[in-house]
Amino acid sequence: MVTNETPRHQGMRKKLIDGLKIKGIRNEKVLEAIGKVPRHLFMESTFIQFAYKDQAFPIGAGQTISQPYTVAVQTQLLEIEKGDKVLEVGTGSGYQAAVLLEMGAKVFTIERQKELYMKVHKFLPEIGYNPACFFGDGYKGLPNFAPFDKIIVTAGATSVPEDLKEQLAVNGRLVIPVGNEHRQEMTVITRISENEFRNEKHGDFVFVPLLKGTVNF
Ligand code: SAH
Repeated sequence: MVTNETPRHQGMRKKLIDGLKIKGIRNEKVLEAIGKVPRHLFMESTFIQFAYKDQAFPIGAGQTISQPYTVAVQTQLLEIEKGDKVLEVGTGSGYQAAVLLEMGAKVFTIERQKELYMKVHKFLPEIGYNPACFFGDGYKGLPNFAPFDKIIVTAGATSVPEDLKEQLAVNGRLVIPVGNEHRQEMTVITRISENEFRNEKHGDFVFVPLLKGTVNF
């Protein structure tokens, strides 16, 4: 694994974790996973010195790598158990997928922008992370690989896609920001039985939009 890891990176990650604790992240396994992923390798070179700041940054193709706090909140809400089969919609930089892999999940991730998909499906294995990467429209999920124990959507949706609810296992959890372009409520949908779903809200966030279709360059 090539990580360019230095004690300085480890020190900065420790500070990031301390900051996330202060902001209310309590799940030790989530903090440990974030503590292991070399976020500096997921950033564009212009922003690399900010890799361990608790902020979102541009990753090209008009998209962003999520803020670590947001990654921590979504990962915590998923309640990942080792061996869980997880679908991520919005691969982006691949950072969230790496955090899920560090938690012991089997990760399937979909990205609608070819450019980002091409970059990440090559880059992640080079640094030791092996999710199943797909190019496609995450609105539709991955029916051929369903059901999933957990589903995470890392872009803001205007409503909850029915296809994703259908691809949840019974007792499975879907974590998805839902709202308008300015503000989304973090929503957790639990499939209680074949036909019953429970819906909880966990505060406001701002994500780039979940868009229909694919971008083929
Ligand atoms: N999880 C990412 C965050 C990326 S931002 C990370 O850790 O870096 C959200 C991503 O969702 C963007 O890359 C965007 O292109 C992608 N996206 C938006 N709509 C989508 C859709 N319908 N299907 C798949 N990906 C989508």
